Amino acid sequence: MRLTMVGTGYVGLVTGVCLANTGNDVTCLDVDPAKVESLRNGVSPIYESGLEELLHHNIRAHRLTFTTDPVMAHQDADMIFICVGTPSDERGHTDMSYIEAAADAVGDVLKSLGPKQKPKVVVVKSTVPVGTTLAVKARIIARLGPAAKDIPFAVANNPEFLKEGAAIEDFNKPDRVVVGVEEAWAGERMRELYEPFVRNGHPIYVMDVLSSEMVKYASNAMLACKISFINEMANLCEAYGADIGRVREGMCADRRIGNQFLYPGLGYGGSCFPKDTRACIMMGEKMGVPTPVNKAVHELNTLQRDRFFTKIMTHFGVKETGGGSLAGKTIGFWGIAFKPRTDDIREAPAITLMRKAVGFGATVKAFDPVANENARKEMGPAFAICDDMYDAATGADALVVCTDWDEFKSPDWERLKSIMREPTIFDGRNLYKPEQMKSRGFTHASVGRRKVTIER
Ligand code: NAD
Repeated sequence: MRLTMVGTGYVGLVTGVCLANTGNDVTCLDVDPAKVESLRNGVSPIYESGLEELLHHNIRAHRLTFTTDPVMAHQDADMIFICVGTPSDERGHTDMSYIEAAADAVGDVLKSLGPKQKPKVVVVKSTVPVGTTLAVKARIIARLGPAAKDIPFAVANNPEFLKEGAAIEDFNKPDRVVVGVEEAWAGERMRELYEPFVRNGHPIYVMDVLSSEMVKYASNAMLACKISFINEMANLCEAYGADIGRVREGMCADRRIGNQFLYPGLGYGGSCFPKDTRACIMMGEKMGVPTPVNKAVHELNTLQRDRFFTKIMTHFGVKETGGGSLAGKTIGFWGIAFKPRTDDIREAPAITLMRKAVGFGATVKAFDPVANENARKEMGPAFAICDDMYDAATGADALVVCTDWDEFKSPDWERLKSIMREPTIFDGRNLYKPEQMKSRGFTHASVGRRKVTIER
């Protein structure tokens, strides 16, 4: 099939590359000429394991092209996937301007092609407030004007469940594919497209568009809920002197509960969970439906970062109110990305903590295996972004571990101790065992477990 991806971000690019790899002809359209140029040269603007190899392979096979021109992109397409961003503000209002611009461009091209064009399915793949796919259809029809009745097209919704850091793997082996359609022929076309990806027997669920849109929010809200839940339990453990690691073992052995997505830490970040829980709250407000669970999940996630920062301040004997200051202290950070194996720093806990530390006058040095470049662009000169993990710890009065990258799991402890001004670790991902850290000569604070302090 001939496919167009509108937007070459984490979702559009991964989807385009993987669908090209199963033999489809894919054109990726983006409004950012620099991105398009870079992709034409086989350089991915985002870090995702395995992505560049597939990119090169499919460009060489002439199945994957890049353009900024909507006419080039849409004219021969059987299916057009809208994969643009849907960011939201702090209250949860979704910025629909990218979706609307993408829909208008599709409408204009369909209109220019007239009634003789082959039937197209316009698929909304971005995560969108419920009702958006039908609004996209109405927008395209409005653009077509009186010609609309003669132009063959249908809309579909197809939420994406890939995880950054394992996006290619997730796209190629999805737990399920969800498709929302109004017309049966569009559903059949979607099935045909996705069949190569579900040979393992995993299902393709075809349903109405409103339910399909809601599946995505319900899934992300549930996952965010698990994270906030285990963090709340961790905070209780900390207060009572219990160990969340042991509690987790005991609790997760119950098969009704399971152990996935129940890791205590600094809370969730990234471009999806924060935005999608806020969107659920906003959709509830719009429809007059209370959403106390989502509100609590969101609030706890914010509190979790604040609590961890308070731990750092308390360690240094500094109060957050009344002019307390971290001036003269150097704080190193390991991990800036919101999770390992991605360069995405959107709404990352590390960014919040680094900004707070600088706000209180500390000198901040940070290292991330792949997100350094994004951090340099985002954070400005007040933050020293280091190219080596030990440089970020050199001279530090404390080291804060924010992302559970593999390279942070077994560092050279003796080297670390020798380069830090004070051997103190704030372990925001519970990577290290408290008693072991004490015997290694470190003061260590984590989440939901006792702090251990070395004698000086
Ligand atoms: P992104 O910000 O990485 O990429 C969006 C791209 O769209 C950018 O390259 C931008 O230049 C381009 N764009 C904007 N307007 C355009 C237009 N009118 N025409 C062509 N290109 C345009 O976004 P993302 O992380 O890929 O997310 C896209 C959508 O998918 C969002 O709704 C998000 O919630 C959802 N989603 C994201 C993930 C994820 O892990 N990132 C997972 C599942 C779903």
